[in-house]
Amino acid sequence: MSGISKAEEVLLEQIRSGDQHAWEQLVTRYRGRLLSFARAKLGQRADAEDIIQDTFIAFLTGLSSFRADAGIETYLFTILRRKIINSYRSAHSKHICLLQDVYQRTQRTIGDSDAFSAMPSDEMTASFYARKDEQNELLRSTLSEALTVLVDNYKSTLNFRDMQIVELLFYCQFSNKDVARIVEINERNIAVIKHRCLKQVRDHAASSKLNVTQETQLEDLLTQVWEAGRLSCPKRSTIGAYMLGTLDGNWHDYVKFHLNKLGCHFCRANLTDLQEQTAEDKSQHLQKRIMESTIGFLHKPR
Ligand SMILES: [Zn+2]
Repeated sequence: MSGISKAEEVLLEQIRSGDQHAWEQLVTRYRGRLLSFARAKLGQRADAEDIIQDTFIAFLTGLSSFRADAGIETYLFTILRRKIINSYRSAHSKHICLLQDVYQRTQRTIGDSDAFSAMPSDEMTASFYARKDEQNELLRSTLSEALTVLVDNYKSTLNFRDMQIVELLFYCQFSNKDVARIVEINERNIAVIKHRCLKQVRDHAASSKLNVTQETQLEDLLTQVWEAGRLSCPKRSTIGAYMLGTLDGNWHDYVKFHLNKLGCHFCRANLTDLQEQTAEDKSQHLQKRIMESTIGFLHKPR
């Protein structure tokens, strides 16, 4: 899910050079999912639209320093989410998934252990991806590599059980105990899987001669990296296939877990947007049918 496509790169280049049509294209592409995300967080408030507008302004004004490795969608979501957190300081606004809303009591994302409160202030949002701390940067990219290998391996071997566990542990920072309860697997097995992952990640970091000191520091970093790259999030086209019911068994179940049980707010926003688009297409289709079938009856002399 991470990275930027060639087509997006071209689009950004056009926007940077002031191409209004390109900008319009980008706004059209992303506004629906951003609005769905904002509405999921804020309810049907009128200011959901204001905050989307601010998000696009922040995107444009920070464009010169945008480092494209996270992709446009994730970057826009990051800006939007930061704005929501700043404007509505409720516990829920920080959560990246529904399940965290349910389990928030047991969350350890309080104070400075929270991946997002570690982020710079609102004005700094745009430079989040442009941060120049080289050592930190190197560590992040190494961890991102290690996690990508891990996630790709789960996908290619259809090991979605471990994928779900690792998602709950690192994307959502749930405790072993809560993960055990959610996936109904012995807590000891969860600990084994977690240990295996952390070892793999550490080994990868060590091979790049990087030193990760504390365990909690590592886990916080992993959450930040996971979220910044949305490593396990299915592609929008995969969410579309899920919606149409054309995914096969294992994938279907995984995407269902990610959307409904974990309840990833980013992917749910995409699903809602896709559903609304489909509804719109259908109503346009109906509109067209009605027009075609009725047009002959217009202006007919009696
Ligand atoms: Zn997701």
